[in-house]
Amino acid sequence: MDGALERRIRSRLAALESSGLARSLAPPRGIDLSSNDYLGLAHHPRLKKRFAAAIEELGVGSTASRLLRGHRAAFRRVEERFARWKETASALYFSTGWAANLGLLTTFPEEGDLVFSDALNHASIIDGIRLSKARCVVFPHADSAALERLLVRESCAGRRFVVTESLFGMDGDRAPLADYARLRAAHDFSLIVDEAHAVGVFGARGSGLLQESGCSDSVFLSVNTAGKALGVAGAFVCGPAWATDYLIQTARPFIFSTAPPPAAAEAIDEALDLVAEEPDLRHRVRSLARRLRERLDMPPDDAPIVPIVLGGNAAAVEAAARLQRAGYDVRAIRPPTVPAGTARLRISLNARLTAAEVDRFASILQKELSGVAACAASS
Ligand code: PMP
Repeated sequence: MDGALERRIRSRLAALESSGLARSLAPPRGIDLSSNDYLGLAHHPRLKKRFAAAIEELGVGSTASRLLRGHRAAFRRVEERFARWKETASALYFSTGWAANLGLLTTFPEEGDLVFSDALNHASIIDGIRLSKARCVVFPHADSAALERLLVRESCAGRRFVVTESLFGMDGDRAPLADYARLRAAHDFSLIVDEAHAVGVFGARGSGLLQESGCSDSVFLSVNTAGKALGVAGAFVCGPAWATDYLIQTARPFIFSTAPPPAAAEAIDEALDLVAEEPDLRHRVRSLARRLRERLDMPPDDAPIVPIVLGGNAAAVEAAARLQRAGYDVRAIRPPTVPAGTARLRISLNARLTAAEVDRFASILQKELSGVAACAASS
């Protein structure tokens, strides 16, 4: 009965395979150079202990959405703490960063509004904007001059929004937040910043690049994932209380989804303790990132995401396979995660690595990349 559908899907799968775009599921193997566990908290004994104790006390599942029986005091407590940390009036915890972006982008931009979106924004931002009824204008990546030209040219009947990541997840570069703050004063828009890869890693108190760049006051909402540097799961939307109050009323991924396990809120609270007590974790991962770039003759930077852009899909897959055989968990990143022709290795560092491991990896990476180049040249 489903034969025609099966033929269609099998031809799609074959096309992915032949263009080097087929993906597969593979568990962690080797030294971690691909996760987003930047501070190494996912396996931290204190997080494990707190999570286990919370399960004993609160059970495993939340059993319902937050608006029904799924709400717990632990969620409220960690939201209030998170808001203080981000220096906002309020925070609302979503089950994933994906749900947070979808929820806020389908809530605030309405029909008649206009959203300016960075060309390299994450898929959850792109999909959130697509699902909203607002018009979208994509601006060139991290280009504040181009954004300003578009702000002058493109108007709408309603409200204008600018949406960007602060640290870009596949490139490890930063949005010019201070420029956007200045543009906002001149061109009136609401600024939404996704801090998924910056939270826990940057800022004097570890709360992200908004704090580090001193631009917090210019931002309407920020999205802060807890499944990356904080080692747990979920994401906090931070901003004014009227905005989070409205999200509770309208954000469909919040309303129509079972709340995360309550123990996650307790584990995040512990992660926030560790970020406060051990600033050395974020200093260490940033210093390892600086070191790796130096060893690879790349421009200096301390972002823990180091992209090695190879271009072709097959080259990226081959390079990742070579490094995996050498004992490193490095993955190939291909379209549509990154633009066509920019397939890459995305090397991500974490505070559990040592300087000696980073040095050894740098020399093996250089050797394996020259092997890939030689293969490409002879084929
Ligand atoms: N925003 C950005 C910039 C991301 O990189 C990601 C995840 N890779 C998300 C949001 C989604 O977060 P989560 O994994 O918690 O769904």
